[in-house]
Amino acid sequence: MYFCKNCLNPSTRPNIHIDEEGVCLACRYHEQRRAGAIDWGARREELVKLAAWGKANTKCSYDCIVPISGGKDSLRQSLYVRDELGLKPLLVSCVYPPEQITERGAYNLANLISLGFDTISVHLDPRVWKILMLQAFIQFANWCKSTELALYSIPIHVAIAYKIPLLFLGENPAYTIGERESSLDGDATMMKYSNTVGGGNPDHLLTDGVSWRDLHFYRYPSDDEMQWAKLRIAYLGYHIEDFNSEKNAEVAKANGLWVRDDETPEEIGDIRGHFCLDEDFSIMNQMIKQVKLGFGRVMDQVCEAIHLGEMDREEAIRIVKLYDGKCHPRYVQRFCDYLGISTEYFWEIVEAYRNKNVWEKNAAGDWALKFDFHRTRDDATPEELGGKS
Ligand SMILES: [Zn+2]
Repeated sequence: MYFCKNCLNPSTRPNIHIDEEGVCLACRYHEQRRAGAIDWGARREELVKLAAWGKANTKCSYDCIVPISGGKDSLRQSLYVRDELGLKPLLVSCVYPPEQITERGAYNLANLISLGFDTISVHLDPRVWKILMLQAFIQFANWCKSTELALYSIPIHVAIAYKIPLLFLGENPAYTIGERESSLDGDATMMKYSNTVGGGNPDHLLTDGVSWRDLHFYRYPSDDEMQWAKLRIAYLGYHIEDFNSEKNAEVAKANGLWVRDDETPEEIGDIRGHFCLDEDFSIMNQMIKQVKLGFGRVMDQVCEAIHLGEMDREEAIRIVKLYDGKCHPRYVQRFCDYLGISTEYFWEIVEAYRNKNVWEKNAAGDWALKFDFHRTRDDATPEELGGKS
């Protein structure tokens, strides 16, 4: 494992691109941004044209769809689309089941809607939701694998059903965390084939108690349906200079967002407290990500802070060592209670994924990260560089 020599982006991040000089894609983008090499006027013009296209091509009272969770990004997107682009959006939300959504999440969703939006909320059968989540956890040690399919697919189903061809997502992950998901521009139309959605077929999660008819909203619409509906999906963040998690949180807080104001970074592995507010299992998932890949959410947060010029690399290392991957045992317990599994079984699954290239047992017999943050692409072995350009 090695790191971008400018920020701390790790080589174990899926689809990471660290160039021959040892610098990641996100850093290169921010270099360009700081040098004034990005023509924001042209990007804004592109966005205005896209908005006009949406207005001209909708067959409905709404000009576009904004998928929402109620969090900071979806709140900013919704306001921007309505107030800056002059569109009438239909918001679409896939709401977590009652046992999973937090009070904070329910409040934030209601708050966003109360700012003056029509919203379609889709609630899926919580029994199926839970079975699929357990399957995803057993198969990948990643419960989100099933729920993300629903989160990404539902807005597309709604767009096709209501004949609203334009959808706005938030940021292109290529520029925020250097994760090359699909395109390198503002076009997210091929999102279906990104690493996260993976073609949008949930059949591998089929198991006892679930039939293919239960999976309608977990299944991404076919390419034919999408082409017939002339769908265009855009990353709003690509077109807006100050679209980043800090600015979005600032706008959202000024508009009533309820953040994690009662939990510490040691408990939640998060130094900002405004990520994934609608449920708590993602805290644990970031810890598992660290077991698998050596990094969690704090790594993303310090990288963004470095990109925005708010933190230097040494300070970032100090903070990562303190908080990355942290997760209070109560979140693990809650997750196990929800799925009806024991914590012993939970750890058995998670430990099977522990990456021995980045973890070793210390003198006390505990697992400790063994990587060196000053290791760059120059130090990488041929195996580490394999498949990475
Ligand atoms: Zn970097």
